[in-house]
Amino acid sequence: MKIIDGKELSAKIRQTIKQEVQEIKEHGNRSPLLSVILVGDNPASQSYVRGKENACLSVGMENRTIRLDANISQAELIQVVRQQNEDPDVDGILVQLPLPDHFETNPVLDQISPDKDVDGLHPVNAGLLLAGRDGLLPCTPNGVMEMLKSIGLEDLSGLNAVVVGRSNLVGKPLSLLLQQKNATVTMAHSRTKDLAQICSKADILIAAVGRPKMITSEYVKAGAVVIDVGINRMENGKLCGDVDFEDVKDKASAITPVPGGVGPMTVCMLLMNTLKAYKEHESYGR
Ligand code: NDP
Repeated sequence: MKIIDGKELSAKIRQTIKQEVQEIKEHGNRSPLLSVILVGDNPASQSYVRGKENACLSVGMENRTIRLDANISQAELIQVVRQQNEDPDVDGILVQLPLPDHFETNPVLDQISPDKDVDGLHPVNAGLLLAGRDGLLPCTPNGVMEMLKSIGLEDLSGLNAVVVGRSNLVGKPLSLLLQQKNATVTMAHSRTKDLAQICSKADILIAAVGRPKMITSEYVKAGAVVIDVGINRMENGKLCGDVDFEDVKDKASAITPVPGGVGPMTVCMLLMNTLKAYKEHESYGR
């Protein structure tokens, strides 16, 4: 059984991003810039934003964090997003979620210019993905695809993939990406009957549910590749995935751990998207 180490893989990908950024700067060009908008002082959000700042630093990218008071209005926040859209030095814009309760999230996110939408969640990017066209991909699903690629699973012809979870953030886009790579995809969710039986047919099983250790060995076909997107905090404060790692690890041919699996890949794909957006903005390398 192979453990797919997201920390190691993301460090490798970051290294190539770092080299590209260095070359960009050596040619006298401006650096790619990620602008992160943080509203309020939610401690978890603050720590995620710090993680993004550090990630940018680690590859030599510029980072701008705009910290806004929790009491600003929806219109004021939208104004800030628009300013970032118009700023030619900004390549990526990310509004850290969740927003405080008095905001409506979608109308804010919809204001982000699709070519700067490095979270890949804008309806335009979602539509491009659905149509199989080039756009900015959502980070977690894209990170999962990189993990599969890292173990030689690039063309998934003839393979059955089951995705448990159908959120716009993870399950839905991931199902589309798997299908683009020729997998035969089943999307399962809370209304699915005989979930264990369906999962046990999967060559590639992906859990994106948010239920600690719900995927046990009876859900897993012998030799399957198991990707655990879930991040759950247990009572003892430790993190665990949606997969019961200890129970499943000897049955799977490859498995991702939590922590240190999909999580680090997500931030890495954010950097990759910022670089991609930069290249589009600057027509760099064409
Ligand atoms: P959502 O809550 O938006 O979606 C959860 C999905 O799981 C829904 O489609 C839901 O079905 C389905 N579901 C819930 N209970 C069951 C069940 N008993 N059986 C089958 N399906 C079920 O979560 P997200 O997609 O945003 O996140 C999923 C997990 O991934 C979370 O743990 C989250 O923390 C983690 N995550 C990790 C990231 C990373 O970087 N590693 C990034 C993003 C998320 P229905 O649609 O019917 O309600």
